[in-house]
Amino acid sequence: MTTTDGRTLVESPDNGTVVVTGRLPQPALEALRAAHQVDPWDSEELIPREELLRRVRGARALVTLVTERVDTALLDAAGPQLRVVANVAVGHDNVDVPACRERGVMVTNTPGVLTDATADLAMALVLMASRRLGEGERLVRSGQPWRWSMSLLLGRGLQGRTLGVVGLGEIGRATARRARAFGMRITYSSRSPADPGVVEDLGARRLPLEELLATADVVSLHCPLTPETRHLVGAEQLALMRSTAYLVNTARGPVVDEEALVDALRAGSIAGAGLDVYEDEPRVHPGLLELDTVVLLPHLGSATEETRCAMAERAATNVLAVLSGGQPPNPVA
Ligand code: NAP
Repeated sequence: MTTTDGRTLVESPDNGTVVVTGRLPQPALEALRAAHQVDPWDSEELIPREELLRRVRGARALVTLVTERVDTALLDAAGPQLRVVANVAVGHDNVDVPACRERGVMVTNTPGVLTDATADLAMALVLMASRRLGEGERLVRSGQPWRWSMSLLLGRGLQGRTLGVVGLGEIGRATARRARAFGMRITYSSRSPADPGVVEDLGARRLPLEELLATADVVSLHCPLTPETRHLVGAEQLALMRSTAYLVNTARGPVVDEEALVDALRAGSIAGAGLDVYEDEPRVHPGLLELDTVVLLPHLGSATEETRCAMAERAATNVLAVLSGGQPPNPVA
């Protein structure tokens, strides 16, 4: 078979399988295998796009990781018997949801099970950035002489400071709860007001984004990546932030205009940043790599053994529900 852009695909039979695009923990794989034929990509390397386009032919279900782009080309390659795309993540910006809907393909995600792990990581980035922990670690590892001194790597404490949460959903709330335990005050911005119980619990004040940026000591991003949130934080927004403030991003890279962030950090118009995600992942803007005021992690938000097992099991449950004709627990709205 030859595709419209001239690529040749190797024929594979209409197999009705569950295609899994990356390594999954064993229990989830076994749950799928107990009911279906499963075709897993069993490697830490990314599945090559050509290989993926070939494998999906005839599949009834795809279990996808955030590293895969589920677009019309992939859906067309899969064919009309595809019933479900189960993304092993809460974010689903890698999936063309409207295109799936048009084809009657259900999309599911894995909310809830990665909340605590990701909030822990967001709080770790808050601490790393504000207390200059990355710089400290690099200093010790460098072998350069150092000694305790009154002025060595002074950072800023969190007690009494304000955390501005952009997107007070599951992870935003869990991060705010952690920040409260560190003595921080909470402000938040989101499209709709949070549940009154949550607001009371957190003592959280809702602010327009501009006001949140101008008054927070740490801004932590927890909204999904959508057309509306792409570059939500750009040059204009960074210019509103205090010169002593930090930006933490565990949401998705493109929510921040990385070029503008590099400029702001270089100019010292904000104090620092902690990033788990990047605009063009896994590429990191070379300007960020040069800056000591930014902490860089390789998308580790949900990276605990128990969380990854739970995410995979959630995805398997979603697939099993759809393929048996039922409603999956986590359809993407
Ligand atoms: P969630 O419960 O759906 O929360 C998302 C929140 O964002 C909602 O409260 C939503 O509230 C708000 N929101 C949506 N659009 C917004 C906008 N334009 N401005 C401000 N707020 C907006 O999702 P979650 O489980 O907390 O996950 C949040 C995101 O974290 C995911 O989408 C994913 O991209 C990211 N994530 C990253 C990692 C990692 O490894 N780094 C791990 C897990 C998740 P309103 O609709 O009321 O605005």
